[in-house]
Amino acid sequence: MTRQTIIAGNWKMNMRCDNAVALAKGVVAAVGETPSVEVILCPPSVYLSEVGDAVAGSAVSLGAQNLYAAEDGAFTGEVNAAMLSDVGCGYVILGHSERRTLMGETDADVSKKLHAALAGNLVPIVCVGESLEEREADDTEKVIERQINGSLAGLDEVRAAGIVVAYEPIWAIGTGKTASPEQAEAVHAFIRKELGKMFGEDVAAQIRIQYGGSVKPSNAKELLGQTNIDGALVGGASLKVEDFAGIISAG
Ligand code: PEP
Repeated sequence: MTRQTIIAGNWKMNMRCDNAVALAKGVVAAVGETPSVEVILCPPSVYLSEVGDAVAGSAVSLGAQNLYAAEDGAFTGEVNAAMLSDVGCGYVILGHSERRTLMGETDADVSKKLHAALAGNLVPIVCVGESLEEREADDTEKVIERQINGSLAGLDEVRAAGIVVAYEPIWAIGTGKTASPEQAEAVHAFIRKELGKMFGEDVAAQIRIQYGGSVKPSNAKELLGQTNIDGALVGGASLKVEDFAGIISAG
């Protein structure tokens, strides 16, 4: 089964409008017209329209960093899938560890968001990953199993094939510590096994699993060369054209 490599830049709460647009244009130029990998930029929601204009007509797609799982209504400060789609998003990151730890998002919340994303025709990028304490207690698989089962609850096989899962060990995010290719591959293979139990092996073989956690040009090739690593979710290194382009060209 060939899975197209998918590289997404999670800009988190960084940038201002002018440098966001400049970065997006730089990525568009670096990627060219027919990249072999799928490239997505996820700017802060206030800049989605401007970044969307900058990537319009290019091979680069637009994604959001979160959504609220409800139709229009009295939800001050939130944006829903229809709004994200309206400004050109095709993807949405869900259940990032920063949202799980800082905003208290649970697997049940992520599952609701997943269904809202799919109903709004957005491809969800569902993040899972263990903390350092959990890894050291040898609980990585237990944690990942719980997050995969909880976050993907209620999903059917047909829709499951189109989602993206991102394995992001919390201890590797923004720390400069990357999981070794072997460590990452072991968890990716475990995730695919869990996906197989939920949706069947054929569907599991179609689901792309990104690795995230201090990915940079110097480690991208080895990580992306692993059998079950189908892309990268990139934080810090997505904020500079040269670094992000270096990761894309490793894909
Ligand atoms: C992330 O936040 O999704 C991430 C992987 O960050 P970084 O690449 O900076 O570790």
